[in-house]
Amino acid sequence: MKNNFFNELLIEGEFSVYNDYQFEVDESFLFNEDKPLKEMTGQELTNKKIKEELQLHKPFFESPIEGYKYLVASNKENAKQYKLSAYGHVFYTELAKLDITDQKKVLNFVKTWGLPTQIKTNNTSRKKGTDIEIDMMSLHDFRTKFGFFDAYFDSIRKLHNVETKIIGNVKKTSYEEFSQHFIDSADLIYHYKPSYKEGEPVALAFFEDMFEYAYLFLNLAIFKKAEFRKCENCDNLFEVTHQRQKFCPVTPGRKRSSCEMAYNNRLKKLKKKGD
Ligand SMILES: [Zn+2]
Repeated sequence: MKNNFFNELLIEGEFSVYNDYQFEVDESFLFNEDKPLKEMTGQELTNKKIKEELQLHKPFFESPIEGYKYLVASNKENAKQYKLSAYGHVFYTELAKLDITDQKKVLNFVKTWGLPTQIKTNNTSRKKGTDIEIDMMSLHDFRTKFGFFDAYFDSIRKLHNVETKIIGNVKKTSYEEFSQHFIDSADLIYHYKPSYKEGEPVALAFFEDMFEYAYLFLNLAIFKKAEFRKCENCDNLFEVTHQRQKFCPVTPGRKRSSCEMAYNNRLKKLKKKGD
């Protein structure tokens, strides 16, 4: 791929992953709804309205008060960091395979990657330069953004699953037209600011949250016509970065692919049984 604005964006900074996270509920939503409207405070009326709107959505995390749940960093000691530039091509496929109806899986994901979205009123998430530190996330916000991302990533899944059909379409138009349509279908915002690197002007990338980061790397994959493969362990798609790769890539804080280890362990057990 020729050099262009997007693949030349300078991606600096690190993402903080805290020691532990826990689910919390905003109790201001637990008001008595039978109270006459006249007697409700302004906050209660607002909450009632939000609550009614939220109920239009499919229940999330089974709790009747799901919309008011938060994931919060509960232990901020010894936070770990990972480099955004090193894990960009891994993060978006890991996000795409997350089952957000399973609280345990969401928690494990967050313990590896940190919180994907942040409460907007909190302006302290980026304390220095391009680093991202998020210590509180609304599950409603996360669910909404995840829904859009999942639908967007579905184009990649379809392209991979029914390859012949889609390639048929691609031939009729062209890869560029197809990818342009794909890219247009998401409401993407990229942030950057002019900077210098080794005396040369560069565009330095900023991310408000992990979804922006995921969209950028997914689009870079489309631009360079990256190859996707299905992991031999979990059957999810990952971006191929070296030709012999059979499993989902290594995630921050690990030395080996957890899918590769799970696959090998299963194989060992099968062999034992066969003996
Ligand atoms: Zn896998």
